[in-house]
Amino acid sequence: MAKDQTRVRIGFDLGGTKMLCGAIDSAGTVIAGKKKKTKELSDSEALLDRIVRCVDGCLKKAKLERSDVAEMGIAAPGPIDTEAGVLLETPNLGLREFPMARLLRERLGFPVFLENDVNAGLYGEYRHGGAGGYRNIVGLFPGTGIGGALIFDGALYRGATGGAGELGHMIVEPGGRMCGCGRRGCLEAVASRGAMAREAALLVISGKAPTIEAGAGTDVARMKSSLFLDAIENGEQAVVELVDRAAWWLGVGMASCVNAFNPDVIVLGGGLVEKLGRRYVDAAERSMREHAMEFLVRQVKIVSAELGDDAAIVGAAELATEANARS
Ligand SMILES: [Zn+2]
Repeated sequence: MAKDQTRVRIGFDLGGTKMLCGAIDSAGTVIAGKKKKTKELSDSEALLDRIVRCVDGCLKKAKLERSDVAEMGIAAPGPIDTEAGVLLETPNLGLREFPMARLLRERLGFPVFLENDVNAGLYGEYRHGGAGGYRNIVGLFPGTGIGGALIFDGALYRGATGGAGELGHMIVEPGGRMCGCGRRGCLEAVASRGAMAREAALLVISGKAPTIEAGAGTDVARMKSSLFLDAIENGEQAVVELVDRAAWWLGVGMASCVNAFNPDVIVLGGGLVEKLGRRYVDAAERSMREHAMEFLVRQVKIVSAELGDDAAIVGAAELATEANARS
């Protein structure tokens, strides 16, 4: 094996429906990737086995051995004790207080580190994507919910117990709409794709969103970002207004982030940003500039995420390399 590949890292994204594995070189390039389903697993042993097979499959594709791997970083949903390498709670996978880093290290033979998936994604964008060159970064990723992450002075900010960055649950409308977290009035209850889908279902019932109706009926789970784009392109005014309103709300949340954190840049990512593009990002940015304190918002840049699905695996790998160098 060539010398420059001896420092390959494994980046791994453990999602609720799929797992994504990448062999990543020292420049942050994904040299080989492998995907598997996360669903239909009997227990945590079966999950670990599938992860190991996914890693081995990825290494085979890259023509590498386990002994070529310096370390592995796993991006996983939910709160994580990064120091101990423990998944604290992942409802989608049914795991609690699960010492995944140690168990995988025993099986794979190289050090394994865990990070929250949104944190890993923003770190990937910071090191090799849209937020390169900035030091103080807010990440907002509107999707089913709204993921958030913070980088201050070039380092991830995890907070006192590892839970910092729940920007989707900033309160923007006290006593307002019900949120998935069990409270009311959160940003994600008015600005996420999930919130848009619930409003779109009402438009479908009143006959004002034929494209959404044709693509998903009133099934909010089937209302993907691309369907909103189709409806906009078909000139459905009620959907245009719905999307603009969600973007306006996102801008309200961005303004609070500007006032609270004084960032250099806000990174927007996720399916809505990818599909709806500039018109959505520009609408959110206009709202942010209307709402934030003038002297703080003046210098803030808005950038779109660039790495897509690779952001979390690249970020997890970089964080693993840094953690391994410290240990
Ligand atoms: Zn909430």
